[in-house]
Amino acid sequence: MLIRADGAARGNPGPASAGAVLIDADQPGANDPAAPPVAVIAQPLGIRTNNYAEWTAVVLALERAAEMGAVEVELVLDSKLVVEQLMGRWRVKEPTLIRLHRQALSTLSRFTRWTARHEGRASNVAADALANLALDDPAAAGRTEAASGREVQALWSKGGSDPGTTDPEPEAWICATCGVQYPLSLEPPVACPICEDDRQYVGWDGQRWTTMAQLVAAGHRNHLTEEEPGLVSIGTEPTFAIGQRALLVRTPAGNVLWDCITLLDPATVARVRELGGIAAIAISHPHFYDAMTSWSAAFGDCPVFIHAADAEWVQYPGPGLRLWEGDSKEILPGVTLINTGGHFPGSTVLHWAGGAGGRGVLLTGDSITVVQDRHWVSFMYSFPNLIPLADAQVRRIVEVLRPFRYERIYSLWEGRVTSTDGPGALQRSAERYLSHR
Ligand SMILES: [Zn+2]
Ligand SMILES: [Zn+2]
Repeated sequence: MLIRADGAARGNPGPASAGAVLIDADQPGANDPAAPPVAVIAQPLGIRTNNYAEWTAVVLALERAAEMGAVEVELVLDSKLVVEQLMGRWRVKEPTLIRLHRQALSTLSRFTRWTARHEGRASNVAADALANLALDDPAAAGRTEAASGREVQALWSKGGSDPGTTDPEPEAWICATCGVQYPLSLEPPVACPICEDDRQYVGWDGQRWTTMAQLVAAGHRNHLTEEEPGLVSIGTEPTFAIGQRALLVRTPAGNVLWDCITLLDPATVARVRELGGIAAIAISHPHFYDAMTSWSAAFGDCPVFIHAADAEWVQYPGPGLRLWEGDSKEILPGVTLINTGGHFPGSTVLHWAGGAGGRGVLLTGDSITVVQDRHWVSFMYSFPNLIPLADAQVRRIVEVLRPFRYERIYSLWEGRVTSTDGPGALQRSAERYLSHR
């Protein structure tokens, strides 16, 4: 069942209504916004907010679809907010909406599969017309609900609807070059400070912005791969921004997401939940802030550990943000963050004592990068702009890691892993680096 739903409120709050069309997704041309529906909703709601009306339209349409025996549903909404909240990427905060959100999720759990996506108002004219009809002529709306698909279709195919009644929706914009997501705003930010810094770069076509929905629509998907027992990489295909992968460290005390990627879709949330969810997120440095706040929100506002020395770079602070200080911090038993500095003052690596069968592993992002010859690593102030790191900072990285035992080093891209003798690789590589300076 394809569901196009829409809420309307004339004033916020004001007289409100819910409209929806339910379309048999197997019929030819089901995706056409004017496809004849198998059922409709046109219901006045009294004095309500616009978001209440949007959510109620979804709830009523889902309940109708369930009654009609739908097995899979696809929701198409012109409310960005509702789509993001349904997908678990944005949090619902208002108590009334929390109730409607729960109701929607509980109905959705009755279907074997569901998705929700955002489309502009132009493709939701049918639902919009029904919502407006419920306000203008509630009696006619009641008759409409009982009418046949063809009769109902005549309502909006005449083109009498007024699509301009809802406010534009704010968006959590994403920088297309570095993948970092910004807090909700109607217009994209004027610039991306992460890219304007001399360690990164503004894209060759200028600053460009995208959104989570556009990434999904462009066909980006995440794939999960077991790197070794207890360590799962999460990467995006086709790659996006700088193309790194995140790593999920699985421990008896909970899972830690090391670094982050931008794309978060329901399939990823479901897979990660199957693996035990996320107890904490830890980020090596600002290039991997990505959509960390959306990830945290999708996993119960779990803590996001960032070294306080990089606090100025946090673009989208969420309720989970934990700025930590000092040289190291054990965030779960056997999982320790170590501040190496270098690439950024707050650059951090993660030591997982249980990795490599108890011999330990080091996850380094690009604070320490495994190079093409994977027996070696290197250190840079900027990788894309080839600016080397000062000698003293390379020495500090080696010193601060000396107490730790580990076998392998995992850096930011798939396959960039030293297989044995991590400490030897670090020591040799630091000496080689310094001898060429
Ligand atoms: Zn950027
Ligand atoms: Zn970096």
